[in-house]
Amino acid sequence: MRVLCAMNGGNGPQSYAQNSSYQRGATEVAKEIIREEIDKKLDIKQLSSTSMDPFCIADFGCSTGPNTFVAMQIIIEALEDKFKKEGLTPEFQVFFNDLASNDFNTLFASLPPERHYCAAGVPGSFHSVMFPKASLHFAYSSYSLHWLSKVPKEVTDNTSPAWNKGKIHHGGAKREVLDAYASQFAKDLDSFLNARAHELVDGGLMALLIPAAPDAIRESHTSTITEVECEVLGSCLMDLAKKGVVDEVKVHMFNLPVYFTFPNELKALLKANENMDVQRMEILNIPGKQVLFPNRTANVLYLRAVLQGVLEKHFGSGIVDELFELYGRKVADSSFFFDPENQDLIVIFVLLRRKMRT
Ligand code: SAH
Repeated sequence: MRVLCAMNGGNGPQSYAQNSSYQRGATEVAKEIIREEIDKKLDIKQLSSTSMDPFCIADFGCSTGPNTFVAMQIIIEALEDKFKKEGLTPEFQVFFNDLASNDFNTLFASLPPERHYCAAGVPGSFHSVMFPKASLHFAYSSYSLHWLSKVPKEVTDNTSPAWNKGKIHHGGAKREVLDAYASQFAKDLDSFLNARAHELVDGGLMALLIPAAPDAIRESHTSTITEVECEVLGSCLMDLAKKGVVDEVKVHMFNLPVYFTFPNELKALLKANENMDVQRMEILNIPGKQVLFPNRTANVLYLRAVLQGVLEKHFGSGIVDELFELYGRKVADSSFFFDPENQDLIVIFVLLRRKMRT
């Protein structure tokens, strides 16, 4: 089942633009690492074998801003510093990629006026090739690769051992459900890497920020805070089904196309790709959600900005207000979400280099 959906558009109180400071925090934490890696690993001599003017950068899964602008600013400043040392001043072209349903109008209307790059939007799924062969020099993607291309079909199949009855995510679900999600993630990551390998020039770099769960969570088969959020949202949908507001069968058929990988799993998947070399991989030290969401409203808005589209697509727009109101009450009644001990979702930084084509 295809369920791809963009984040909440516009600039209003429920928009992604207004409710994504958590994600932006990770980009800010990654700033020094990105600068350091561009300085150390961008091999200008190797890249000079292709035309480097303009120097082309793409952000895959950019959403509506402003986070993508923060990331592009960090990357361009680092590139400018690096090129200056070599006496070069290329022009920069930034391509903003996201699903066609993304609110590109909001993105374009809020482009920073002082930017040092030309901007273009590229609609389409990043699981496919989006650019001509060897036409990009630097690729970036943050908080996007946990979105799957589809829900693994076993989890909505009532004859499968991986049927995820009454739940909407692998958080808190049976091992078979987690395995079905993991295998979809492996396929999607491979498609993503192969598409980028086609588009990047030899020696081109790619920086990724991927939300994940610690390896210990997989071993103990417990959940991170974000998975618990999905679990609670699923329980709210079941409550609405019991009240007759939504059809219970529809809840059984609904699963979020989102998977949180684990560092060891990600490492193995990246290593298996024959076109990309892992240059650096590390867990970022990001501030916990309780720092950013000290109150229930902020926590609800953050989740709503991300999931409203996918929920409306399946259940219609009529239930969303009631669903998030109920969710907000459950979050407020639980001390779990505000306990610093439970802020265990992690973000993995990865730097990859496109290998030489033979
Ligand atoms: N990079 C931004 C936005 C992350 S939100 C930040 O760090 O804040 C995740 C984005 O990925 C959404 O805008 C969503 O529409 C996009 N996305 C999800 N699946 C995608 C796909 N297959 N192709 C392109 N974009 C996708």
